[in-house]
Amino acid sequence: MIVNERTIPIKIQKSEVLLRRIPENHWKRAEIVSDLAKRWAGFRGEQAVDFPLSKLPEKDYLIFHGIRLSNGKYSFQIDTLILTAFFALILEVKNYAGTLYFDPILDQLIQTNPNGEVKGYANPIEQARQQQIELEKWLKKRNIFIPIEFLIIISKPSTIIQTAPGYMKMLQKVLHVQFLLSRIEKISSSYKKEIISSKELKKVCRALLKEHTPETFDPLQFYKILSNEILTGALCDKCQSTLPLERHYGTWFCPKCQTKDKNAHIRAINDYFLLNNDPSISNQQFREFLHLSSASIAKKLLISMNLPFKGHYKDRVYLPHNLNQGKT
Ligand SMILES: [Zn+2]
Repeated sequence: MIVNERTIPIKIQKSEVLLRRIPENHWKRAEIVSDLAKRWAGFRGEQAVDFPLSKLPEKDYLIFHGIRLSNGKYSFQIDTLILTAFFALILEVKNYAGTLYFDPILDQLIQTNPNGEVKGYANPIEQARQQQIELEKWLKKRNIFIPIEFLIIISKPSTIIQTAPGYMKMLQKVLHVQFLLSRIEKISSSYKKEIISSKELKKVCRALLKEHTPETFDPLQFYKILSNEILTGALCDKCQSTLPLERHYGTWFCPKCQTKDKNAHIRAINDYFLLNNDPSISNQQFREFLHLSSASIAKKLLISMNLPFKGHYKDRVYLPHNLNQGKT
């Protein structure tokens, strides 16, 4: 059973908004485009495990996506966590193409791209081992002692996996996605003793969801972009022009492609919330962002969105519907 669905990571959502709201010739554009391509590829790689996992019996396997927990100061995130009454399994998914060489001496992963480019990465086996240690600590604090396994999943079937002779044992934890299901079945058959009762399992499940703290990301700070560089206004969904839409007779109007759009302010306010780390908006900020001159029209639009709010009269600020942005 999927306990929490995988959602588009907050870093992707926020970077997409940032890209839409900086000028065409902005000096950071190429960097954001390149980061986004990597993040989307990583996300699609993670999705590759969904099909094999959907074949597992629902009642016996609890599946968590992108759970982020903390042991005091240190936070750790697990791409996919599978929990059963017998064992827990961490999946670390990698979408690398070409040839992967696991270097046991330098404890590094070396990728040779299909175009011959060579790149080095931290060893994902070590990464997963750290997650295993942290999860073990986290569960121990809650008096749960369950064996924790981990696997590194290579999401592209064409990727070639290699290591030095004599180190093949190291690769037992690394496998292509098409072998995931049979590997889980094999792991499952090796654990015959039920460690936690179904009641306890439910308790752990609740604790995992309750203590999951979504990642935060400040796109402006990350890319060192000033808030006055951000393009304001409601934007056209059809022609992708960066010209602000105009308010004409109760609707939004694109000066470039002449499209009318009743809901452009909803997308705009969503962008505003995603770009601000402590998201709230006053009537005046809304007017400035949407290029509206009338406070009463701004108020009407704000009220029509049924946003939560705090404060009275002039101090009132509106908040996003889902305060836990990025929560999966
Ligand atoms: Zn347009």
